[in-house]
Amino acid sequence: MSNSELTEADCIRWLDTTAPEALQELYQQAYAIKQAHVGTKVFYRGIIEFSNVCEKDCFYCGIRRSNKSVKRYVVQDDDVVAAATWAWEQNYGSIVLQSGERKDDAFASQIEKLLQRISEATNGELGVTLSLGEQSPDVLERWRNVGGKRYLLRIETTNPKLYSTLHPDDHHFEDRLQCLRDLRDLDYQVGTGVMIGLPGQTSEDLANDIQFFKDHDIDMIGMGPYIPHGETPMGNSLPDFDSARQLQRGLTMLALTRIALRDVNIAATTALQALDPQGRERGLEAGANIIMPNLTDTKYREGYQLYDGKPCLDENAGMCRFCLEGRIASVGESVGYGEHGDSPHYLKRVAQQT
Ligand code: SAM
Ligand code: SF4
Repeated sequence: MSNSELTEADCIRWLDTTAPEALQELYQQAYAIKQAHVGTKVFYRGIIEFSNVCEKDCFYCGIRRSNKSVKRYVVQDDDVVAAATWAWEQNYGSIVLQSGERKDDAFASQIEKLLQRISEATNGELGVTLSLGEQSPDVLERWRNVGGKRYLLRIETTNPKLYSTLHPDDHHFEDRLQCLRDLRDLDYQVGTGVMIGLPGQTSEDLANDIQFFKDHDIDMIGMGPYIPHGETPMGNSLPDFDSARQLQRGLTMLALTRIALRDVNIAATTALQALDPQGRERGLEAGANIIMPNLTDTKYREGYQLYDGKPCLDENAGMCRFCLEGRIASVGESVGYGEHGDSPHYLKRVAQQT
């Protein structure tokens, strides 16, 4: 199947397909395209979930502001730098700094200092992706100037109407979209993605999401199945939640995205593993090439439950590393240690500009 052959109607048909044998063929096609365009090295992005303090109140998220049963935490800067240094010493090419959204000056300065300290501690060799929600162009530029080269901001869904059912009135689809545009203008490697299997989301919506990734020339994709969290307004919104079907849709989206976009980095996200212990390996086999081992100290993990059943609550970073290496070898792939693993799509764009 070539890129030009994958029409919106094809995407919808695949997303509605449930026959495992047919889908297996799709996943194999996606895998072949992955091999040809990004290879079979898996790159690690060690994720540090350094704070669950969030100003926002997304209806689906377990750490939303209104969830009073969450014990809020902020990891000390020294400990964040130590975790980043550990990742560098383990030869991980890069890390992700992720947290709830805060827009105050103190937060902007804290991240700026953290980026400077991480760069100093790791000889400027560790790639850093930021995943800190919507921020102003000024703040994004400050972070860009001290080593934040990549940014992950999921659009969550590209259907504005659906977006409005998932968020309170003061969370605006257009603001999120503008932030993605600002990131591009500031020369970040831009990552986005959606939740798959949201209440009210159609196969057409998901096909449009893939078109959005193409139209916006996205470099990195971080998307995964939506999984309800019992203490959120959407906790009961999928009464017939079927984890096998949800996983299948997630894998189908990964495969279709690989076939349509070819040379981007695509993460096999933890939500896949929450639905099936082999979920991330299956993601690699359906076209993903990035895995995000969790580097957050286990004592904080309980506080970062975005959805019910998030895995690896009690596995420390070292255990995560070895468990993952075995899982990656089990599907015949290897880890790209010591390499940033930049998105080939991004590198091509930069080469064209120079
Ligand atoms: N606060 C930042 C933001 O929203 O962009 C970054 C952290 S946020 C926890 C990261 C991602 O978690 C969101 O983009 C969302 O897609 C995902 N997420 C939140 N709740 C989820 C759920 N119930 N199921 C699956 N993914 C979820
Ligand atoms: Fe906050 Fe991000 Fe969760 Fe929304 S998805 S409530 S912004 S942490």
